[in-house]
Amino acid sequence: MYIVMIASECAPVSKVGGLADVVDGLSRELANKGHKVEVILPYYDCMKHSVVKDLQNNPVQVSVPCSGKQIFSTVHKAVVHENDCYFIKPHSQEKYFDRGIYYGKSDDDERFTVFSLSAIEFLLESGRKPDVIHCHDWQTAIIPVLLKAKYRQSALSDIKTCFTIHNIWHQGKTTEKVLKMAGLEPPIYADMTDDTDAAYVNLMKGGIIYSDIITTVSPKYASETKTPQMGEGLQKILSKYSDKYIGIINGVDYDSWSPGNDKYIPFNYEIDTIEDKYKNKGQLRKKLSMKDEFKPIVSVVGRLDMQKGVHLIRHALLHCLNNDMQFVLLGSSPDTEIDTYFHHLKYYLKNNGNCHIHLSHDEELAHLIYAGTDMILIPSLFEPCGLTQMIAMRYGTVPVVRNTGGLSDTVFDAEVSVKPVAERNGFSFDDFSYDAVTLALKRAATTWADKPYTFREIMLTGMKTDYSWRSSADKYLNLYNKISGKW
Ligand code: ADP
Repeated sequence: MYIVMIASECAPVSKVGGLADVVDGLSRELANKGHKVEVILPYYDCMKHSVVKDLQNNPVQVSVPCSGKQIFSTVHKAVVHENDCYFIKPHSQEKYFDRGIYYGKSDDDERFTVFSLSAIEFLLESGRKPDVIHCHDWQTAIIPVLLKAKYRQSALSDIKTCFTIHNIWHQGKTTEKVLKMAGLEPPIYADMTDDTDAAYVNLMKGGIIYSDIITTVSPKYASETKTPQMGEGLQKILSKYSDKYIGIINGVDYDSWSPGNDKYIPFNYEIDTIEDKYKNKGQLRKKLSMKDEFKPIVSVVGRLDMQKGVHLIRHALLHCLNNDMQFVLLGSSPDTEIDTYFHHLKYYLKNNGNCHIHLSHDEELAHLIYAGTDMILIPSLFEPCGLTQMIAMRYGTVPVVRNTGGLSDTVFDAEVSVKPVAERNGFSFDDFSYDAVTLALKRAATTWADKPYTFREIMLTGMKTDYSWRSSADKYLNLYNKISGKW
């Protein structure tokens, strides 16, 4: 099978969120299974150049028809984290990817449309005929539309497309101007009219209608996004196309996340050496100047965003400090209001030896937190998949999560789940409320204190479960096979 991934991010070279991890992890796993995989990405000036290997200095040049003119883009081949990557650099006065930023410009719709057009022209120009083109999120959602409309008579017309929704909050709502610029005709505009505001067209909606298969990053999120409460206006179109809409849980990159060979933690451990986890707990306390007392440590690692339940996190932290638990928070927020909110909390608690608040991105500390804490709290309002609960379980850290999206699909409550006891791996709660989060934390803490053998079983269940890309990549392969009939 020959697969071309086209995306706006890929770890570790250009990462904003989970999308980058999926493009990297899925591509590598597919290649490990013997398939040919190429990843097409924008050539951002701000990407992490140090991880780009074997960058060829004779780029291919393609001419891209756009707004009735031609833009020239160069395509630079390189290897990143074992993936064969092609970086696209459009050469125009707009300097689309030379802005020192990945997203957040008022012409993002244009930037990624030019990128998408350039990717298609590169495939045509180089005579590539993949079995499947896999596009991700709104930034590349126009590609299935272009292939079925503008390029319907080209050599790429019969290539099958898979479109993955990583987060339905970001849909690429734009104006017809962008579709015109891409060379699409008015009948397509009607299809892509936004369902909540007819003055706009919606790029994600185009990807949904015109791709051969749509995926999202967990089965629960696939069903949630078909409801008015969580579909963000796309519920009708997703319900209409539900026969081709499937949820597949993301995998975790076990090369980076394994307590047995994690280079960032002082004491490596496995299931049969689990006691060494507690040496990491001691190191974490030492590093963060926390008291060495017989208490569980609850952690939070993540973006501090409304999606992640910031008020519940603050409430939980104070609850833990008042109830014989310690708390470590590692998070950052580009939102100044949220950032200030947590800086105030940090100041207020600065002499409290039972907690530590670290407000920045710190990869190394994240590893030590997964290894050195007892529970991880994830009280998200919504969570398409979530990686932190799966990483934590790999490290024997018990998740306490809100029952939503991928958290529901991966965390099964130790006391009330319908799953067999042997599959119960954490604690969960339904309501997005202070009381619900507090009760779940109380249940987890009581089990930790009063039923240590049960708590140990819950830890081991998480550690034993395979959350790697292996089985998720097989699910994608089955879909590719179904649409292309090639394998
Ligand atoms: P999302 O994609 O919504 O941000 P996920 O749970 O899917 O959330 O993935 C978050 C990833 O980012 C995890 O690998 C987590 O360890 C990492 N991460 C989040 N915040 C931080 C931080 N402040 N420092 C280090 N790593 C972080």
